[in-house]
Amino acid sequence: MKFGTYMFIPKKRVPGFDYDLFRVKPEVGRRMPPKADMHSNIAIFGDNVAARNHPDWISQSELGPAWRTNDNFNVRWEVLCQTQPEHRAEQLDYIEDVARKSQGIWLNSIHFAEHGHCICPRCKELHAKSGLSWYEWRRKEVTDYMAQVSDRVRNRAKKKFVIGVLPDPVTNYERFGVNFDDLAPLTDEFLVVMFSKNYATPWYWEMLVRNFKKLFKDVKLNCALYVIGPGDDPKETPTTKELLTVSVRMARAGTDGILYLTENDEQMQEFQKKAIAEKDTRERLKSYGGKAGQEVLDLVSSWEKLF
Ligand SMILES: [Zn+2]
Repeated sequence: MKFGTYMFIPKKRVPGFDYDLFRVKPEVGRRMPPKADMHSNIAIFGDNVAARNHPDWISQSELGPAWRTNDNFNVRWEVLCQTQPEHRAEQLDYIEDVARKSQGIWLNSIHFAEHGHCICPRCKELHAKSGLSWYEWRRKEVTDYMAQVSDRVRNRAKKKFVIGVLPDPVTNYERFGVNFDDLAPLTDEFLVVMFSKNYATPWYWEMLVRNFKKLFKDVKLNCALYVIGPGDDPKETPTTKELLTVSVRMARAGTDGILYLTENDEQMQEFQKKAIAEKDTRERLKSYGGKAGQEVLDLVSSWEKLF
């Protein structure tokens, strides 16, 4: 297994992890210069800045546009129309540039906003011209664009490329236009964001790992866990005990990698120290996950010499 950090504003690499993933362009749309010794995480169609500058680019549906204030959908940020040509073209160039300046590209927000999106005049016309069913047309749009992005990162910039999808193994196609079999040959690995403010019931997360392992077949699965995000009250974030437990249980279910999300590197090191201090939990978890679970426990043991 490989272990990574996943940070909004890292000042430097964090010792004790295999790699660092820097959110150079998260869904809020702000852009930061990539770092040469880190991987770069980019959200494509979730983009508050582009939506503010081009309100007519917002994704449309019968239940309203994908503004984050539309409670009909689980949209936590503004989501643009997946076929917006200027945004698509600009993001292709941006992603290739970031790829050249860093270790690789890990994508989020590659797809349509949600079920029923997008019915803007352009999408209606594209769908009608395609001759395909609504779902198959959306699938083709997502797959074709990912093929272009993959070409930029893997073939032109010659960097690692990881496609991120939302944690829905069964209805990603109907909701977002995502078909895992289409994307598998285009990506080096998959990332599934499994963020939650607590992991009190690890059973569900373990099940999702088993589901995605079955669907992704030979392509590696990386799961991202939530430690603490910008503006969080630490009392309302997952406990270290929960994080260690869910990590071991995801490991025994077969995940190939785990990433931990914090705002910055100080918080990541705080998490490492707290994990080291969880002696009873670490002892208890030894019986949980065989060899795979032991890799998580060995990681924590390896941190002891850092502090
Ligand atoms: Zn549209």
